[in-house]
Amino acid sequence: MMDEYLGNVLLGWFHTHPGHTPYLSDIDLKKTHELFYTRPFQVAIVLDTLTENFDTGIFSRKKSGQVNNKADFKHWVAWKTIAGHLNNMH
Ligand SMILES: [Zn+2]
Repeated sequence: MMDEYLGNVLLGWFHTHPGHTPYLSDIDLKKTHELFYTRPFQVAIVLDTLTENFDTGIFSRKKSGQVNNKADFKHWVAWKTIAGHLNNMH
């Protein structure tokens, strides 16, 4: 993959939590994020597909290195709003 996409970097990863709200579980953090996405710009996107607008958390790292999680957010991003904006750009 690295040879095929030379010069590109992995920005992060994405998964869904249907009906469980967006957050990073202990397993998400220990088995994925803290193993493969440790660079300061890498994010985890978690989407709850059972909410009306697909509530989405985009979790980055704090300056301390700690990963933002559910407790750091008051409101979620509405995935359907983002997708609508992207569709309007065509
Ligand atoms: Zn998860």
